[in-house]
Amino acid sequence: MTSLILSRGRHVAVIGLGAAGLVAARELCREGHTVVGFEREKHVGGLWMYTDRVELDSLSVDPDRTVVHSSVYESLRTNLPRECMGFSDFPFVTRSGDGDPRRYPDHREVLMYLQDFAKEFKIDEMVRFETEVLCVEPTEKDSRRWRVQFKSSSGVSGEETFDAVVVCNGHYTEPRIAHIPGIDSWPGKQFHSHNYRIPDQFKDQVVIVIGGQASGNDISSDIASMAKEVHISAKGVTSESYSGYNNLRLHPPIYRAREDGSVVFKNGKVVFADAIVHCTGYKYHFPFLKTNGYVTVEDNRVGPLYKHVFPPALAPGISFIGLPFMGLQFFMFEIQSKWVASVLSGQAKLPSEDKMMEEAIAFYAKLEDLGIPKRYTHFLTDPQGNPMLGNFKPEDKVVISQSDYFNWIAEQCGCASIEPWRERLYSVAIKKVFFGGDCYRDRWDADQLIEEVYREFAKLK
Ligand code: FAD
Repeated sequence: MTSLILSRGRHVAVIGLGAAGLVAARELCREGHTVVGFEREKHVGGLWMYTDRVELDSLSVDPDRTVVHSSVYESLRTNLPRECMGFSDFPFVTRSGDGDPRRYPDHREVLMYLQDFAKEFKIDEMVRFETEVLCVEPTEKDSRRWRVQFKSSSGVSGEETFDAVVVCNGHYTEPRIAHIPGIDSWPGKQFHSHNYRIPDQFKDQVVIVIGGQASGNDISSDIASMAKEVHISAKGVTSESYSGYNNLRLHPPIYRAREDGSVVFKNGKVVFADAIVHCTGYKYHFPFLKTNGYVTVEDNRVGPLYKHVFPPALAPGISFIGLPFMGLQFFMFEIQSKWVASVLSGQAKLPSEDKMMEEAIAFYAKLEDLGIPKRYTHFLTDPQGNPMLGNFKPEDKVVISQSDYFNWIAEQCGCASIEPWRERLYSVAIKKVFFGGDCYRDRWDADQLIEEVYREFAKLK
């Protein structure tokens, strides 16, 4: 299938118009493809479109529930400086007017940036809004072409055939829940962070927040402004105190929950709590994708995939943008999109299906040797300075460092890789997320680096 000679200009469906889909649509158009974007919401921007609506099922475990896409909470500000978040030729700088000028702006500012991007590159014109993709499957006549079935919010169904489908549906909507022995008879209320917006409902309560990553920390301090006590339960906790708050305590993982409302932590400490908020991440979910088993999701590994993008047996007709998490997300969406666009036009070549499969299998074997669980398959960041990877050593030749990954893709499609300034800015910023304390967003001291970044932005004009 991959030896198929492709010429420029394919008919391509892009599913989802968040940051990934927007830049995918632009890159595909730039490469001469015709694009139809499918977006089930009324707007572009994906999860950055804040809504105060939450799902009725506060843990989002009911498969038949009405899904609310966004997981953004009211107080959310970016966890990276805006300068390193933007696309390569469309810097995320302060806009004139009513925006948020801060280095770590709020979610509205990110949405406005994405809307500006869509306007600049006329993306809206190629999008069918309020149209949900229900099914993507190979056509009967030709397994290299893809039938996309969709339904609009007004109930109109349709289908259309495409040469390729680029999947950009996001992966922060389907919650992962912590397994807690005894939870079924625990009388308190449980939530997943997907359904968290504001702290008001926790007024004067005792709340346990599970998860010590970015959103766990943000949500804990948000809730601490209203709650009586907040107890964060996370792996690797060494001390109980949390600087800056006297109603916030740190604990190891939960051992069990009991009928009397108490929760026991692994160090034997007991807390009587009113609510548990699971900030335990999300699952990849592609309910519309029918690939006859060529792509599966197992313990949060989407596979087999060649370099997180192409399923060997279905390439280049199916591709995924944005699966790797952490790291420089928007830049990654952009460079992956350039690769997909140039493979579809025949400008870049993929290896044979067998070779791609061999590479994927070798990558998975390497992760296993390193003791990295399957669910971290798509974890992409610079290993140094990131405590989540534990003993992982950067000298191991696994494509897991984001810079190596970007450089590799850039070579495949002859595009520019990550700019040195962006790499350095990210490296400063990621340390702040993990080690910069609660107010890291408002303490910025790398001014010289920022000056250099703005000199680079000036050259783009
Ligand atoms: P989304 O933004 O989720 O977009 C997916 C789109 O697909 C949506 O518009 C959805 O409606 C649509 N869709 C889904 N299914 C269908 C279907 N069947 N048919 C039609 N349309 C469909 N990254 C950063 O760089 N900086 C940050 O500070 C940052 N903060 C974050 C905070 C939170 C709480 C979360 C959850 C993530 C954060 N991220 C951050 C990471 C995030 O990955 C991105 O910034 C990014 O915007 C995600 O873009 P996306 O296009 O992959 O997905």
